[in-house]
Amino acid sequence: MATPHDVDVIIAGGGPVGVFLSAELQLAGIRSVVVERLAERSPHSKAFGLHSRSMEVLDRRNLIDRFTEGARSWSNGHFAGQDVWIDFSVLDSSHAYALLVQQTRTEELLEEHALRSGVEIRRSHEITGVEQDEDGVTVQVTGGGADYALRGRYLIGCDGGRSLVRKAAGIPFPGQGGRVTARLADVVLADGENAPMGMERTENGLLFCVSLEEGVHRVATFDYTEEGRKSPDETLTLEEFQDSMRKVWGTDLGAHDARWLSWFTDSARQAETYRHGRILLAGDAAHTHFPVGGQGLNLGLQDAFNLGWKLAAEINGWAPEGLLDTYNAERRPPAEGVIGNTLAQIALMNPDPIVTPLRDMFNQLMQLPDVNRFLAGMIAGVDVRYAPQGGTHHQLVGDFARDMVLKGADGDVQLAHLLHDGKPVLVDLAGQPETGATLARWAAAAGAGDRVRSYAGTAEAAPGLAALLIRPDGYIAWAADRDATPGELVDGLYLALSTWFGRPTA
Ligand SMILES: Cc1cc2nc3c(=O)[nH]c(=O)nc-3n(C[C@H](O)[C@H](O)[C@H](O)COP(=O)(O)OP(=O)(O)OC[C@H]3O[C@@H](n4cnc5c(N)ncnc54)[C@H](O)[C@@H]3O)c2cc1C
Repeated sequence: MATPHDVDVIIAGGGPVGVFLSAELQLAGIRSVVVERLAERSPHSKAFGLHSRSMEVLDRRNLIDRFTEGARSWSNGHFAGQDVWIDFSVLDSSHAYALLVQQTRTEELLEEHALRSGVEIRRSHEITGVEQDEDGVTVQVTGGGADYALRGRYLIGCDGGRSLVRKAAGIPFPGQGGRVTARLADVVLADGENAPMGMERTENGLLFCVSLEEGVHRVATFDYTEEGRKSPDETLTLEEFQDSMRKVWGTDLGAHDARWLSWFTDSARQAETYRHGRILLAGDAAHTHFPVGGQGLNLGLQDAFNLGWKLAAEINGWAPEGLLDTYNAERRPPAEGVIGNTLAQIALMNPDPIVTPLRDMFNQLMQLPDVNRFLAGMIAGVDVRYAPQGGTHHQLVGDFARDMVLKGADGDVQLAHLLHDGKPVLVDLAGQPETGATLARWAAAAGAGDRVRSYAGTAEAAPGLAALLIRPDGYIAWAADRDATPGELVDGLYLALSTWFGRPTA
């Protein structure tokens, strides 16, 4: 007889990705337990920004106001520390800017959201072993003064770059080892007035410096030399950090009183697969890269947003065949793209003079609006779209549904708000009762009637569209123009519903 499950899903790691995923599952009625080895959230921020696609995602769960409250935003960003800035304001997004929000705050707000949803987070509990069988996954946990076993239908490794879950599942993590060593300190600079703000490339590396809070700077040195490398378990001391500043910049600017010292490399790796049976990976456990451009946390949040509803559908018993595997298919390419652009930036920032002409040329290219738009879309994640599944497709399928005002029977509503409860939504924009009735009838016939929310209205921003079927993560599963025939409407919708949401429950 199969061993009973203690919980539907075990989430290893209560970092931002694990916590956001737990809330996504809870929204779809799936209980998870987050197992986190740290007693409390880290007081140090790795990330200090969020990009457009993450904010669009937060908007679709009614969280955006909490994140933007009191936070500064920035319409520009850098690419490889070039003189010409990327302009995010040109993006086709309702959040065409970068939000300056420290990771500590992001984690606090996500935890607040998860706890409010009813999620259980077990702090000071560490997963030490993993065993998977046909029916579930059992993990060994040390915590609460005891060792115990916890069994779930699925285990998700959100346990960071050194993921025990990934290793226990035997998932290879190919890529390249570190060649560039970054030393980072949140410090007080006695000579802060002369600190070079932003990124400065010198003949010995790079110096990165930004003001973190009153009197405290975040300073990092990037060392490209072999003798500058460190071995994995070494820590960073203030003296070593001061030395590295002198090496790269010529002076340590009187750096003292370090609040946080850390080091990392340009090691770039991606899990060969994000799923092995009942074990899945998300966030840094699935991909690691140099943090240039501030993309890792954003990538992980979007992994969680993609995975949550699919895993919930699987456990709730209505997921069409193969739905859960689309997580791996859809989320590996964006991470490949981020790894590629961070490696390109590392190459462009190399202090070797041989790179200088290439930087100069790249700088000129960045002045071209199309190039700038391309880079902005890439860094902000707005260019992510997923491959359409089966059948013929409207050009919008696979793209993220842009926010717009919809005019319905009860007044105006933002499209983004229709997704607050995490259900797919069928938006009938044709403004004709017969079309709405036909769509609703076919949604019911596909077995998805109670799972898919319907909304009827009109949208000035999309005059040619008759209907949109939007997934819980905001991507477009199906779309039809007003000149589609009734037969095309019905066939297309039926196929899309059964591909994504349709399997009738027993
Ligand atoms: C210096 C720096 C700056 C960065 N800046 C940015 C930025 O500006 N923008 C951006 O998007 N990204 C940035 N990143 C990347 C970002 O910080 C990470 O991508 C993000 O933290 C990943 O979140 P996660 O939840 O996947 O993993 P983590 O944050 O690593 O969380 C994993 C959690 O799992 C727990 N854990 C591990 N093993 C176990 C176990 N066996 N049992 C129980 N718990 C376990 C850990 O304690 C941890 O809390 C930066 C990274 C660095 C290093």
